[in-house]
Amino acid sequence: MLDKAVAQRAGLEMPPSREELDAWQARRLKAVVDLARKKSRFYKDIPELPEKNFPEAFKALPFTTPDELKADPGAFLCVPPDDVDRITTLTTSGSTGMPKRIFSSAEDLENTVVHFMWGMNEFVKKGDRVLSLYPGKTEYGLNDLLKKGLERLGVPMMIYGVPDDHNDLFKTIREERITFIAGPAPVVHEAALISRDLKQDDSLAEQITGVLVSAAFVSDSCRSDIRDIWHCDVDEHYAMTETGFEGAVSCPVCGNFHVWECGLYYEIIDPVTGKELPEGQTGELVVTTLDRRAMPLIRYRTGDITKVLPQSACGSILKTIERVHDRQEKKRLRGRP
Ligand SMILES: [Zn+2]
Repeated sequence: MLDKAVAQRAGLEMPPSREELDAWQARRLKAVVDLARKKSRFYKDIPELPEKNFPEAFKALPFTTPDELKADPGAFLCVPPDDVDRITTLTTSGSTGMPKRIFSSAEDLENTVVHFMWGMNEFVKKGDRVLSLYPGKTEYGLNDLLKKGLERLGVPMMIYGVPDDHNDLFKTIREERITFIAGPAPVVHEAALISRDLKQDDSLAEQITGVLVSAAFVSDSCRSDIRDIWHCDVDEHYAMTETGFEGAVSCPVCGNFHVWECGLYYEIIDPVTGKELPEGQTGELVVTTLDRRAMPLIRYRTGDITKVLPQSACGSILKTIERVHDRQEKKRLRGRP
């Protein structure tokens, strides 16, 4: 279970307790605020957190918005420019104007590799051979970090990228004896549908035992189509580039998403009033990074709609969120048509 990995990263004793994890997170949040106040231009004027009185003091801090991040990414930097090992430029759909730029230090990149290792450890087993349909082959890009994480589990990963010739993709899956596919949800979904159209679904289903998809929103039909066509498990990863791909992974037991709480602190707010919502109520996810060194984010508004579930049916002590809702739902909750 992810619990052990999170507790180990946080330096907690086993088995970890919720109270200990809460106390550790409170200490981390204070450290993150101290770092950001001292080192970044953007956060230099936010109030210092007291030793005690958590979470009230923390929850009185202002939100950070994607527009603020876009307007002046350099203002968030907490390390000298020489210590930035990677800059990720994001021009994702929906955003207008300037792209977001995310800075990572060597330590940040290592944290992502560790997150991928433990996240994938939930889904793959020794002997698996992974094929990635994510785009990009740059050093420290998504594929590179995922591959490094899997290598630490002794599981090889090949990078295919987004396929344009599906016959070639299916041939590669067979020849390379691939057992597990990872990629953006729409890309993997399309590959499954095309394999059925080309009547190659049965031979692929014999080989593929698992699939990992990621997207801001993964539809029910995407999951059920892949599962039905390839007769395999469909696991999911929820994350964003702003957090160095750290996020939450779907749980094969309870079906919800367990948060990587050694790297992230999640809150749910009313998207209109900004007030915190209690467990079980649907609202906007706000994230604070706990282990990002170059560009920590404090109370960052993700725009994603979900809720924190009161208790996990699987027994995990980790904060558990529901699958992120689709865009229509988001508009409805924000009170827009
Ligand atoms: Zn679970």
